[in-house]
Amino acid sequence: MIQTTVITPADIRKAYSDIKQPGGGKLEGVADDAAALTLNVALLGIPSIGRNLLDGEGWRYLNTSRRKSQALLVTESGPLVTSTDDALRVPDDTPFVLRQNGKPIKFSIIPYDKKLKHPGYPDKVKAYFLVVDKATPLDPEQPFNLSFKLGRRFGTNQILNKIEQREFPVAYDFYGWRANFYDVLDTDLHSIDWIRIWLNRWIEVLALVAGLGVLTFALIRQQRTSATSRRLQFFRVAYLIFTLGFIGWTAQGQLTIINITAAVESLRGGGDLSFLLSDPMSTILWLFTGVTLFVWGRATFCGWLCPFGALQELISLIANRIGVHQRRLRAAWDARLKWIKYAILAVILGSILVAPSFSEMAVKVEPFETAISFHFVRDWPYILWAVICLAFGLFLYRGYCRYICPLGAALAAVNFLQRWSWIPRRDACGTPCQSCRHRCEYQAIAPSGQVQYSECFQCLDCVSIYQDDQRCLPLIQERKREHRVIPVQLKVEAR
Ligand code: SF4
Ligand code: SF4
Repeated sequence: MIQTTVITPADIRKAYSDIKQPGGGKLEGVADDAAALTLNVALLGIPSIGRNLLDGEGWRYLNTSRRKSQALLVTESGPLVTSTDDALRVPDDTPFVLRQNGKPIKFSIIPYDKKLKHPGYPDKVKAYFLVVDKATPLDPEQPFNLSFKLGRRFGTNQILNKIEQREFPVAYDFYGWRANFYDVLDTDLHSIDWIRIWLNRWIEVLALVAGLGVLTFALIRQQRTSATSRRLQFFRVAYLIFTLGFIGWTAQGQLTIINITAAVESLRGGGDLSFLLSDPMSTILWLFTGVTLFVWGRATFCGWLCPFGALQELISLIANRIGVHQRRLRAAWDARLKWIKYAILAVILGSILVAPSFSEMAVKVEPFETAISFHFVRDWPYILWAVICLAFGLFLYRGYCRYICPLGAALAAVNFLQRWSWIPRRDACGTPCQSCRHRCEYQAIAPSGQVQYSECFQCLDCVSIYQDDQRCLPLIQERKREHRVIPVQLKVEAR
């Protein structure tokens, strides 16, 4: 993934051997064959490399900075990095030269001060993203040359004082390296475009498509799926475990508001949405969510396919089993608090336009990365926030989803696209029957009996109640009427 080049004092001396003037200092305390400078290079723009080396935040930062251009990561470490002596190294904002087929490749340098997910990554490093300019694209399939540029000051007075620069080739042969190590690299490292990424993840793709097929079938036959509350609960718990365990923790298919902000930024920058293709799980889930939005609304994603939503619901179920029950807010308070998530969404989307760096911070309100991508192995403030969001759900049912989640708000905001009122209703719903309303944990049914689809999570509880002659008032009355014993009076006439 990373290739290393070491430049020793002997290499430097050799490179400057033609200079006869005094100057060009000596690195004290560094042996001739020791490392004066260690350079590490990685072709970050290849998703399987970039995603492996950077954490989620770093990967997003890179993608925001590069806007689909190729990018390299270069790190410098060793005594020459910290040197302030011009005779050893003259400071240079662009100490690299990149060429392909003999032509210079333009790039910009973006400092990156976070650690990498790479064993043995040194503590004291200077790291940069080299983001290739779209005007001179870099073809990662073809060999290219990267050189480190070292400048040293020579001479003893102002007239003779001059900077001499030398280039040191930095080894990076992605193409040859890929071919040599093809078999031992991690599974998708040899994917350099989205088709190969999809092929490499074909088992996960197949499992996800099969899972979505099962869900579609179950939702089309919603009355059968929820024919008894026992059957419904069995199916729902099993599916939520699949969502959390497979879609979330295994296949990393958590959709996030960052997908939306990245798409907005890409479109604003004149790009398109093809970057999404490098993540098959997200692509399939977004397509499915987009199509089902027209049929069942945002409920299908939020109710069945969001791993963090599933985690909250499973925790609530366990809590209920041990006697911890969630409270219901008064309708007025519930209605007020639901606006918080829209406000958060507005701040995130608005800040893309006026303060992009703030939007980078604001999206951290989502605890998905911590709970799903990093399996809770992260710095403690992130873990604390994820735990707070989950604990919130112990007091208010799926509290994070209903009141905070900006992704849920974005989906609810476009829920008007839903074309079908799929929850069956009777004239008696609302007047006089309030059975579904009181049992809807999401408080998505109004006193009138009308369903607020933008707040519905398709748990199917009300569909189950609708068919249940023990819980649905009109059915209870009908059952009672049918079983009512009509006294029969026998008249015996005297002859
Ligand atoms: S509201 Fe947010 S956390 Fe909840 S299910 Fe929807 S996207 Fe997931
Ligand atoms: S009970 Fe509430 S959340 Fe569940 S399907 Fe009915 S309206 Fe939607």
